[in-house]
Amino acid sequence: MIPLIDLKANLRPLREEVREAVDRVLDSGHYVMGPDLAALEQEYAAWVGTPHAIGVNSGTSALHLALLAAGVGPGDEVITVPFTFVATVAAIRYTGATPVLVDVDPDTRTMDPALVEAAITTRTKALLPVHLHGHPADMDPLLEIARRHGLTVIEDAAQAHGARYRDRAAGSLGHFGCFSFYPGKNLGAAGEGGMVTCHDPAHAERIRLLRDWGQDRKYHHALLGFNYRLDTLQAAILRVKLRHLDGWNDLRRAHAARYNQLLEGVVTPTEAPWARHVYHMYAVRSERRDELQQWLASRGVGTGMHYPIAVHQQPPFADLAGDFPVSEALAREVLSLPMFPEMTEEQLQTVAEAVRAFQPSMVR
Ligand SMILES: *Cc1c(COP(=O)(O)O)cnc(C)c1O
Repeated sequence: MIPLIDLKANLRPLREEVREAVDRVLDSGHYVMGPDLAALEQEYAAWVGTPHAIGVNSGTSALHLALLAAGVGPGDEVITVPFTFVATVAAIRYTGATPVLVDVDPDTRTMDPALVEAAITTRTKALLPVHLHGHPADMDPLLEIARRHGLTVIEDAAQAHGARYRDRAAGSLGHFGCFSFYPGKNLGAAGEGGMVTCHDPAHAERIRLLRDWGQDRKYHHALLGFNYRLDTLQAAILRVKLRHLDGWNDLRRAHAARYNQLLEGVVTPTEAPWARHVYHMYAVRSERRDELQQWLASRGVGTGMHYPIAVHQQPPFADLAGDFPVSEALAREVLSLPMFPEMTEEQLQTVAEAVRAFQPSMVR
């Protein structure tokens, strides 16, 4: 069986390094915040290329706090997409603001800049594009629209650690970048975690307060805050894994290039000329997607759907229903093939042969 992702294979060669990091934290007695978190924040900020990075307990919390630091609240509108993980839209709701959805571009599967201007009202406060599957959104036109209308740009980079847009890193393009360290992400903790990157020191300071009960000193609560701190154990493990991330992303890109070769004439490559895609997912499309999934499963190939239902088609977000034909078609048709750094040439060939053995005209 070839799995969609293989977390154990990823950790195996790092076992000794991780064990040392875990022992260091266990021996220190510093289980919340502490020196490993501060070090991870510095290393992550340097890696993304922003002056600030603030560790939090999930990608969802990263989005929530970036929105709050941007001043988003009840009565405001935030423009995002329906073809994403539910957390993107839920985080907007947590602030009391109203999500406003615009459809995605069929090629990049990310926010279609041509649709944004028509969705802007006097209440619009922010744009929240998602770098879905590890492919950056088309940021220059989005940043230009935001500049013209005085909007904050918050990147959902939960799937895009290391992705680049015209040589600028995902998470460094807008006012805020929001990352998730959920285990299956390109950089995954052994548990939950997240990070906000930003440029403005006042934004960074506000997020530091909000993640830790709004405390500026112990038991002095300047703001209504949250318990959104990143565990020190996770920070220590993430520091080890961050050192390997560039290599892993290079491997993902090499595997994707090999898939493109092996599936030439069947699958259309998705990487835009201005993008460095980091293939959190390698997702093909088929009008007979569910059959393709069963076909592959019967040949020992694991797959996933990211995502099978668009957000406005989910019950808690039914009030956001609108005209999103591209998102709905993608939700019906996308299928993620196995993709993880440790994949072998043999595994890539097995997957590609199994896809080719399905009616190739039904895959793109
Ligand atoms: C994973 C993910 C999130 C949420 O991150 P968590 O760490 O699971 O809270 C948000 N947005 C997108 C696009 C994601 O893939």
